[in-house]
Order: sequence, then C-alpha cells, then structure tokens
Amino acid sequence: MSIEDLPISFELFPPKTAEGIPPLKEQHGLLAPCRPRFFSITYGAGGSTRDRTQQLVLELNRAQGIPTVPHLSCVAETTESLTTLLDTYKAAGIQRLVALRGDLPKDENHIAHQFHYANELVTFIKDHYGHTFELIVAAYPEVHPEAPNAHQDLSNFKRKVEAGASAAITQYFYNPDAYEDFIHRCQRQGITIPIYPGIMPITNHDRLVRFSQRCGAEVPRWIEQRLLDYQDDPASLQAFGTEVVAQLCEKLMAIGVPGFHFYVLNQAKPTLDLLQALGMNITAPELTAA
Ligand code: FAD
Repeated sequence: MSIEDLPISFELFPPKTAEGIPPLKEQHGLLAPCRPRFFSITYGAGGSTRDRTQQLVLELNRAQGIPTVPHLSCVAETTESLTTLLDTYKAAGIQRLVALRGDLPKDENHIAHQFHYANELVTFIKDHYGHTFELIVAAYPEVHPEAPNAHQDLSNFKRKVEAGASAAITQYFYNPDAYEDFIHRCQRQGITIPIYPGIMPITNHDRLVRFSQRCGAEVPRWIEQRLLDYQDDPASLQAFGTEVVAQLCEKLMAIGVPGFHFYVLNQAKPTLDLLQALGMNITAPELTAA
C-alpha cells in the first residue's frame, strides 16, 4: 500500500481577518495538486468563527474541483442557528460535515445549552436533513481528556456512530499502538465505519507541547527531548519532525488505515514535505517552494 493509493484530506482554519484569506487560498492552491478528497474548515470554539467558517467554506468549495467540508460544533448553537447554517450549506451543495460538540468556550454564560454532546448534533442533522450530508465525527485513540475512562469514551463514540455518523477522524497522536488498540476495541463493539488517523506535522516544540496538553495528545518523551535539542535550529527540527511523522504514517499504513487526514494549520509546506517523504510524487515546481 502506498500513500498514492490512499484517500487523504486536509484541514484548514479560517483566518482572523479578511486579509488572511488570500494567503490561505495560496496554501490551498499548493495543496490542491495532491488531489485530496476534501479540505475541511474548522469552526471556532463556541461558534466564534461561524461567519468566517461559512464564508471560507463557500468561497473555497469546488476550487480546483475539490469539495470543502465544514466543521460544525453544537455546544453554543440553537436549533435555529443550526438550521440557518445547514440550509445554507445544503443550498451550496455541501455534501459532508464534521459534526462536533466543540471545545467549551471560556465564558459559558453565553452558551445556549440546547446541545450537550456531538451525538445530539448527529441525531439533529439526520432527523432534519436525512441523507443530505455524510457525517464525520471525532474519535480519540488516546481517550478524550474529559472522559472518565477509556471504556465510557468508546461507548460515547459508539453513540455517534449509532446516531448516523459514517466516518471518523481521530485526534492526532504519535503512538501507532494507540490507534491499533482503538481500532480493535471499535471492532469488538461492532463499529465498522472508516476511522481516519488525524496527522499533525511537527514544526515547533512549544506549540506542539501546548496544543497537546490541551487536547490530551501524548507527545512521547523521546520526541520532546529531541525537539528540545533543535530549539535553535528550526531547519533540523523540521527535518526531524518530517522523519518522525513519516515513520508514524508508514507504521499506520502497515497496520492498515482507510486514509489520512492532515492538520495542515494553514501552512502547506510541512504537510507537503511529509507527503513527499512518504513517496508522493509532487512534481509541480511551485510545490517545493517555501
Ligand atoms: P463528544 O463526542 O460530544 O465528546 C465530548 C466528551 O463528552 C467526551 O469526553 C465524551 O466521552 C463525552 N460524551 C460524549 N457523548 C456523551 C453523552 N451522550 N453522555 C455523556 N458523555 C458524553 N473543536 C472546535 O471547536 N472546532 C473544530 O472545528 C474542531 N474540529 C475538530 C476536528 C477533529 C477531527 C477532532 C478530533 C477534534 C476537533 N475539535 C474541534 C475539538 C473538539 O471539539 C473537542 O475535542 C471537544 O472537546 C469534543 O468534541 P467531540 O465532538 O469529540 O465531543
């Protein structure tokens, strides 16, 4: 199995201001020749990027023939706000959504509390929109940080599948055993939907450690220590990051994965370097530019 045979997807986030959109479109243009199945666009905690996510989804949809997939988190939404957004996406021909609870906003006083968990969002969309959207949900091989234990987290994941999710993308991880164990546990529960590993390129020690603490992803000590060695040498740090994450992807391909989802973080180069290291033929000259 080679990387060229596997479906891949890329995740972008909406920039803070309108000035950020043209540079993001450039990054989209650099990644598009890899022919991903889709670009997904995140949704800020508590609906904080509702308008910007929608605008970007609609602007990028079908650019170079590639669909966009909006993320949608329900924690701060009402049935009315969801319906408005979903009607817009339906009219625009959007066919897939990433359905999430979302991170809880810092100021919880402002949240609607009509939806508490992602399975409720999946049920709502299925009840009101039938088969209009294919629903992708989040999965946590290393266990969601708020879950009381791994067993209950898996049962909660199963609720989303039973409510109608037809695929999942995982939180990122650097230990392939965590993914393999999760897949085996899913199989024992009768969960058969494709579960795409989410892959986070490594480009910066501090950011990786900060992100990982927040979302419950484990950075193996040896990786963290090696990254510290390269604090003053970003080129070597990035080369090391590419090597480590490429090895992770190779191990995952050996285990057997349905494809990969890359957390691009709006910078094409680290993901393109990774795909090249995995043997993808990326020939267009502009792709190798910084
Ligand atoms: P849920 O599946 O609802 O799970 C949340 C927690 O509640 C878990 O601990 C679970 O075990 C528990 N739980 C679930 N259902 C129940 C239930 N019925 N009863 C009791 N407990 C339950 N965040 C954003 O804000 N915007 C994004 O665009 C975004 N994109 C993401 C994309 C991917 C692929 C992933 C993996 C994460 C993304 N996140 C995003 C982060 C995500 O919102 C957080 O991890 C959030 O804390 C959980 O969302 P969820 O949909 O997994 O929630």
